[in-house]
Amino acid sequence: MNTMNREYVMHDFRLLINGRLVKGAGTLDVINPATGRTLTAAPRADRAQLDQAVAAAKTAFPTWSAMPLRQRAALLGKLADALEAEQGEFARLLTQEQGKPLAQASWEITATIGTMRYFATLDLPIEVLKEDDTQKVVRQHKPLGVVAAITPWNFPVLLLIFKVAPALLAGNTLVAKPAPTTPLTTLRFGELCQRVLPPGVVNVIVDQNDLGPALTAHPDVATVAFTGSTVTGKKVMASAAGTLKRLTLELGGNDPAIVLADVDPKDVASKIYTAAMANAGQVCIAIKRLYVHDSIYDAVCEELGRLARETVVGDGLDQATQMGPIQNQAQFEKIKGFLEDARQNGKIVAGGSVIKREGYFIQPTIVRDITDDARLVREEQFGPVLPVLRYADIDEAIERANDSDFGLGASVWSSDLDQAFGIAARINSGTVWVNKHLDLGPDTPYAGAKQSGIGTELGQEGLEELTQATIINVAK
Ligand code: NAD
Repeated sequence: MNTMNREYVMHDFRLLINGRLVKGAGTLDVINPATGRTLTAAPRADRAQLDQAVAAAKTAFPTWSAMPLRQRAALLGKLADALEAEQGEFARLLTQEQGKPLAQASWEITATIGTMRYFATLDLPIEVLKEDDTQKVVRQHKPLGVVAAITPWNFPVLLLIFKVAPALLAGNTLVAKPAPTTPLTTLRFGELCQRVLPPGVVNVIVDQNDLGPALTAHPDVATVAFTGSTVTGKKVMASAAGTLKRLTLELGGNDPAIVLADVDPKDVASKIYTAAMANAGQVCIAIKRLYVHDSIYDAVCEELGRLARETVVGDGLDQATQMGPIQNQAQFEKIKGFLEDARQNGKIVAGGSVIKREGYFIQPTIVRDITDDARLVREEQFGPVLPVLRYADIDEAIERANDSDFGLGASVWSSDLDQAFGIAARINSGTVWVNKHLDLGPDTPYAGAKQSGIGTELGQEGLEELTQATIINVAK
């Protein structure tokens, strides 16, 4: 039985290599962002353990890929059952290492289970592309081999499963590497894999931001499924070039939302606030720039300010908490820089400061009358600080929304759905929502435009992404 109190996590965390739970060559301290204190020490792999993990995945590949797809789907279902059986413990551990309120952590685990169960229903049938008296042309999807799954610290479990579920169903094997500040839930997930899957099919290693280059350049890794920042994504792409690996890069975003004059400012402000501040703004597809029509600008700013002032910020384990801390100290320092920028280039409506207590807490912050060239508008803040910009002309708003190297998500808010759809079609992002934001389902393909990524996750397309399409062209 694990003892998990607020201060420590009493559990013997191990790496998973070739079906065995093993100690790391070293350790690293995992900090609870709500206290700034060490929760536990996690095992840390060295280069030799990385090589062992890749070798194990390579050895497991022929048998795993030869197993009928429906059998692999059944094992994926068992993995989902195993996670469901420990859902409460996973959610609590996620809050402790990541910081998000327990309700949001529970949501993440539920969504993770749902994603596994969804992928377990998919198939990769052989498609007949054409057939006549002289020939038959078919397409077959084959697994690629060893997948390196590299994940960030904002949704450590869900984003891991976005990779693990399709990779396993398609017949690939895997080496997973979480972010060094949130390794615990991934290590616990490794324990479930150890119980349910054949040895070597899933391996879990932990590093301190030092093993990524070796993993992405490794000659026995066939493809890299990466979620993280655009800066790191570019390094991954360069590193993978040596062996021309396949890549799925889900990278940073600076999602704009455009609010038209015809909405109820109060109602829309509340939905936008949630989509900007969930997980303390540490969501790739959070609303990060808000463009509001001049006629309702003051009303929207006022309502957002009210919601920010009313938000209960605290330790995610406290039932009353609505917003947790920033996940790690480096990000906390970065957000402080954005607050300084907001003070200089805009007007603070609510918040604007760090919260003076232990841990990495920032007041939810709304900034108005800020210039388009402010850092808070140009860059990805990845924190609870929302700039609100004014516009008068919709063409100008679309141009400003598109004026970014990022193109992950966006949204349009209007009571005229036809007009909103027309505007959505002019926004250059992987996903554009109308009258909502932040809505990802496992069955809907998800991809970034511009420097927000390459390749697709989720849906049938996300499954096929982790395969090699082979055309078999037969003369009759
Ligand atoms: P990060 O890029 O710093 O780290 C992501 C992962 O890459 C970590 O596991 C890290 O250890 C690893 N890494 C670091 N250096 C590496 C290297 N040279 N080679 C290979 N791997 C390396 O990102 P982060 O700070 O953990 O996460 C925040 C960022 O992730 C934000 O920009 C956010 O928008 C983005 N994100 C994108 C999506 C999406 O789906 N598009 C989802 C969540 C987060």
